[in-house]
Parts: sequence; structure tokens; C-alpha cells
Amino acid sequence: MITNQHFGEIPPSYLFSEVAERVRTFSAANPGAEVLRLGIGDVTRPLAPAVIEALHRAVDEQAVASSFQGYGPEAGYAFLREAIAAGEYAAIGVDVAADEIFVGDGSKQDSANVQELFADTARVAVTDPVYPVYVDSNAMAGRLGTFDGERWTKLSYLPCDDMNGYRPALPATPVELIYLCSPNNPTGTVMSRSDLEGWVSYARETGAVILYDVAYRAFITGDDVPRSIYEIPGANEVAIELGSFSKTAGFTGLRCSWAVVPHALQRDGVSLNAMWLRRQSTKFNGTPYIVQRAAEAVYSPEGRAQVQADIDYYLANARLIRETLERAGVAAVGGEHSPYVWFRCPGGMDSWEFFDVLLERAQLVGTPGVGFGPTGAGHFRLSAFNTAEATHEAAQRLARLLPELV
Ligand code: PLP
Repeated sequence: MITNQHFGEIPPSYLFSEVAERVRTFSAANPGAEVLRLGIGDVTRPLAPAVIEALHRAVDEQAVASSFQGYGPEAGYAFLREAIAAGEYAAIGVDVAADEIFVGDGSKQDSANVQELFADTARVAVTDPVYPVYVDSNAMAGRLGTFDGERWTKLSYLPCDDMNGYRPALPATPVELIYLCSPNNPTGTVMSRSDLEGWVSYARETGAVILYDVAYRAFITGDDVPRSIYEIPGANEVAIELGSFSKTAGFTGLRCSWAVVPHALQRDGVSLNAMWLRRQSTKFNGTPYIVQRAAEAVYSPEGRAQVQADIDYYLANARLIRETLERAGVAAVGGEHSPYVWFRCPGGMDSWEFFDVLLERAQLVGTPGVGFGPTGAGHFRLSAFNTAEATHEAAQRLARLLPELV
């Protein structure tokens, strides 16, 4: 045997291909139907003008020998590391040094790669439902045991649903790695300050490391919800934080992210910051210069205002979706600090049954919650990443259909 046998144990990821297949079949049978997509996990607004201008400037620099940039620093250019330290952390009163920030080319990569810093035997906990990358990357590394058709035998699932107010309980058995995501994909819920304090003190007591994903942090409004785990004292000794420009500034195609690995985070007498630097220097040659200049522009006064306008646009869509559900008697979460709205399927339907009803009777596409983990079964995710016009039309169709189903 010369191949990694753990790949064979991973169930096929058929969620989005199955969604696409069912939509194709429906559209072929109903050629006149206008299908609206609220399943999108990708942004639809174009890049902000300040970002485009920075890209143009950086492209022009590449045409001149004196300003041409080849390989950049593996951990990112100082100008962007400093802009992130100031714009994401100092701006909220959190002290993160520029050399604790590593620029990457996407949080998917960062969140999949970070497990390489930990032992094969490290035990893992994820909230359930969950962004599938955390699970599959650990499965590929052989940490999760075998898949029994619903669950990995060695993975700790921390259920989040209306029974516990979407607040995951601390793991019942010891773990070394904990993935948390706030605002959450797929549920759209957020962790409160006191929730996070509980997690940080758990990690400090047990030595576990928290991998905190803030890919959707720009959707947080107001001052009550923490934007970074480092707002909690002592978190710099227990947590790595992963951020992304994808959802916050429309970089899903451009690709730029950051990881914070604090110097104070040490295990077994080793600095995880030094380990991550070694890992990145070995396996990564940096995010393109022009992309880093584009990301820097997000923090200019114009960039900030333009990006915020797009976030507000999506948040208005999200609010409309959630209010439409609630008015029809369907209790929903998310949509306040998040582009996602999450709910139990009406009438006790399972995720795929409701998917089919929504498609056939309202020509709407969403995402079946069961694709995000066992506790997602019987749930559904709708996304705000569409135009305001399409979202309004979708809301009208939902308002007509839902009362017949609840
Ligand atoms: N983390 C979460 C929770 C996500 O939902 C996504 C994308 O959907 C990502 C990370 C990855 O983002 P990217 O690789 O585009 O930075």
C-alpha cells in the first residue's frame, strides 16, 4: 500500500454536487421556471473601487524593473501585516504584533493546514453542524478513526441546536484541538463574551488549543459580540485565530487571508508561531504582491466605507430572510451578525425533503443542513449572498409557501 488510506475513509462530499444535480434536473423539466439561489456561499458584489485602484497600481508596478516584485516574504509583506494588526486588532483595543500575523491565500487553506502543527494522536472537537474543512483535513491526517456512516469514531462532536441555544457544551472527554467559528457557518450564530471566556478558561486548564475562525467577523454589528478571541484575557496563550478577506471584502476569487499565531502560544516547550513560520516557509511562497496591496486598500478610509456598504447590503438581505421566516412561524437564528440564516425545516421535514419542496413549489434553492454534520439533519441554511432584488422576490415566495408547511 503506497497511498494515504485515510482518504478512502472519507465519505464523498456530495452536498453541493447533489444540489446542482437536483437544480439541473428541475430546470430541464421546467424550462420557464426562474430559479433563485439562496444557497450561495460565495459573494456576488464586485470588489470595492478602492481595492480595484490598488490592484491597478500594483499591476503597473510590476511593469517597471525598479518596482517589480518577485517572491515576497513567506509570512506576508510588512505593510499588510501591519495594516491587519492596526485595522483588525488595535482598532478594537487588542494587542497583536505584526509578526504574529501570517498572510495566507485563503482561510480554507489555513484552516485545513493548521492541524499539521499537532500530533497524529491529538484529539479533536468540532461544533456540529460545522464547516466541513476542519473535519475532512483531520480525517486525511488520520486523527478521526473511522466513519460509521454518520460520525467519525474518534471525533468529539459538540452539538449546537435550539435545544442548547446554539451554545456548544465543553467537551465531555479530553481533547487537544477545538475548532470554533463565530459568526458561525452554517448557523449564523455568534459566541458571546461569556461563552468565549468559558472556552478560554477550559483551554487554559486543559492545555487544549482553540482554532478560532473569524471568516465572517466583518458581519458583526454593535459592540456586544466579540470580534476576536483575543478580546478575552489569556486567549493569546491558547488560541490561533484565522481571518479572511473573502467574505468581508469580496476576495473569494482574489484570495487573501491571515492567521494569528501569538508568541505566547507554546506547547511542549515549543513556540507555535515558530512552527507555523517553518511550515509556511517550507510549503508556501506567499500571497501575490498585487493581492496583498489590494487587501491593504481595505483599510484605507475609502476602502473601509465601500466594504462596509457591501456588508450592510448583504445584512439587509439576511434580515429580510430571517424576518420572513419568523413571520411565517419558522424560528430562525443567524442573519444578524452573519450572512446565513439557519432553521429547523418546517413540518418536521428532513433537509432534502424540504430542499425539494422549496425547489418544486417556490423555485428557491437553499442548502440542506444535514451536509454540515449530524446535528444539521432536519435543518436548512439560506444565504444573503444574492442581489437585493432576488432576495425580495425570494422572500415573497417564501411568505406564500411557508404557511402551508408549518
Ligand atoms: N471559514 C469558514 C467558516 C468559511 O465558511 C469559509 C468559506 O466559505 C472559509 C473559512 C474559507 O474562506 P476562504 O478560503 O475563501 O478565505
